[in-house]
Amino acid sequence: MYDVIIIGSGPAGLTAAIYAGRAMLSALVCEKDYMGTGQISVTDRVENYPGLYGINGYDLGEKFREQAETLGAEFYEGEAESFEKTAEGWKVIFKDGSVKEGKTVIYTAGTSYRHLDVAGGEKQRISYCAVCDGFFYKDKVVAVVGGGDTALGDALYLSKLAKTVYLIHRRDEFRANKALQKKVAETDNIVPVMSAVIKEVTGGENAEGVTYTQNGEEKNIAVDGVFCAIGSVPNTQALEGVCELDESGYVKAGEDGITTAKGLFVAGDVRTTPLRQVITAAADGANALSSAEKYIMEL
Ligand SMILES: Cc1cc2nc3c(=O)[nH]c(=O)nc-3n(C[C@H](O)[C@H](O)[C@H](O)COP(=O)(O)OP(=O)(O)OC[C@H]3O[C@@H](n4cnc5c(N)ncnc54)[C@H](O)[C@@H]3O)c2cc1C
Repeated sequence: MYDVIIIGSGPAGLTAAIYAGRAMLSALVCEKDYMGTGQISVTDRVENYPGLYGINGYDLGEKFREQAETLGAEFYEGEAESFEKTAEGWKVIFKDGSVKEGKTVIYTAGTSYRHLDVAGGEKQRISYCAVCDGFFYKDKVVAVVGGGDTALGDALYLSKLAKTVYLIHRRDEFRANKALQKKVAETDNIVPVMSAVIKEVTGGENAEGVTYTQNGEEKNIAVDGVFCAIGSVPNTQALEGVCELDESGYVKAGEDGITTAKGLFVAGDVRTTPLRQVITAAADGANALSSAEKYIMEL
């Protein structure tokens, strides 16, 4: 029986584990991806995490993980599938049938990419990770779909590899922060395609073109690859019926991470929160652990 079972080893989960170590609580961090450190691990460059300007995302995740390990966290590779309340705490049931028990659970499973739901949008034709797949498009023509920070960040990253990057957005202005918008505007081989609603990704296993409507007219551009960054959905399937979720599926909780299920706390991107970043996920992890510690003391 662990004091805390942490689901997910992104910035929120690993910070909760670091704080558990400092509070002398036993913590088991459960992660579905081998040695995963969450979404940040696929980011080329993190410029807004204080004290570590310009650090590579994978390196930042490794630093979090090493610190949690040094402070005594144990790690377990497995995908949490369901939760059961017991007299002593919680049973976590994993996809492979294994079970772990803890006095408390801190759920930090983050979010997943929202998939492009258009004709031809099957997964094999579209990449959701520019840093992972960009290398294959050296000197080629690619399209990035989206208008937020991730889409513009991906376009900038790909502009260093690809010949041309079409940045296709359904609105007439980007949602991304002004600094990214300025960099995009200054990059010659990024071509913004605004007010464009994608109808189809054409081609076979690899994309060959994108068909879209713009001002009522149907158009097509030839591309060698399509990258998609149109937002994310919370990983809360395992929590349905366990605690209250909002209409989009995020776990309803304040900064203290207290959910409607006693002894089950939440932290990071998966929580109803106005900002989803590494620093807010880490702060959430610390807060949730503090709530779990108080809960354990009162048991
Ligand atoms: C491309 C990209 C660039 C970004 N750039 C920045 C940036 O520059 N600066 C910044 O501050 N933020 C950035 N972010 C956002 C930042 O990465 C997230 O806000 C942060 O990672 C959230 O941390 P988290 O711990 O809440 O969740 P996540 O990082 O999503 O981690 C959740 C973990 O839980 C695991 N998991 C999911 N379900 C289960 C399950 N059922 N059982 C076990 N494990 C499970 C996942 O595999 C994952 O490892 C970026 C995000 C992306 C996608």
